[in-house]
Amino acid sequence: MHECPSCALEVEGTPTECPYCGYEFPQQKSSIKMVAWLLIVLLVVFILWMY
Ligand SMILES: [Zn+2]
Repeated sequence: MHECPSCALEVEGTPTECPYCGYEFPQQKSSIKMVAWLLIVLLVVFILWMY
């Protein structure tokens, strides 16, 4: 559950926009984290492959 900072109503799930007042939630930075993890995994695989 997410609480809208604009109208303080509970919004279900992981909303991108409040269905009540139209407030746009700031996008989660998990996608950036995922890219970073992917790069780390690729680096590890590359190092292991070199040996
Ligand atoms: Zn709202």
